[in-house]
Amino acid sequence: SNLDYSRYLKGWIRTVPNWPSEGVMFRDITPLLQNPKTFRMLIDIFVHRYMGERIDMVAGLDARGFIIGSVLAYELNVGFVPIRKKGKLPFTTVAEEYELEYGNATVEMHTDAVKPGDRVVLIDDLIATGGTMMAGYKLLQRLGAEVVETAGIIELPELGGGELMRELNIPLFTVCSFD
Ligand code: AMP
Repeated sequence: SNLDYSRYLKGWIRTVPNWPSEGVMFRDITPLLQNPKTFRMLIDIFVHRYMGERIDMVAGLDARGFIIGSVLAYELNVGFVPIRKKGKLPFTTVAEEYELEYGNATVEMHTDAVKPGDRVVLIDDLIATGGTMMAGYKLLQRLGAEVVETAGIIELPELGGGELMRELNIPLFTVCSFD
């Protein structure tokens, strides 16, 4: 079942304490991606979740959202949209600034990346405070897209992002969580 899969896949996520800074428990998905079987199991969870739905596009957040988002888009036979960190996209962009623990960050998307009414799945590897996911969500909304669901591999409930999304009635799906 999906519950068994999620427990199994969680075991392939490596925790690196105090990286990139003191006190952070970094949840590293590279072991999960490195193993062809767990990589496929992970992608298949998302594919099975969305293959019955009308989806027009998958949008992935810079940078680990690209790895899973592009494969998911390919499997769903829809297009892929990168939502990038500031200054990387060459054409006209829309931008959303959000707060980090120290300072701000900005994500950008091309203005022609989605059309009004497009049904989009927004994906990243992990949701912590939800700042990144919310910024991507707002960009898609500003261009008139309908975000069918936001998705991630990992939720960190203690950081409140999932709760924030639920309060705002924004659908969120994650494969596993770390307390
Ligand atoms: P947030 O905007 O606070 O929800 O943070 C989510 C973004 O930061 C995602 O793009 C993650 O890749 C990254 N991130 C935040 N905290 C962690 C963590 N503990 N381990 C790995 N990635 C993280």
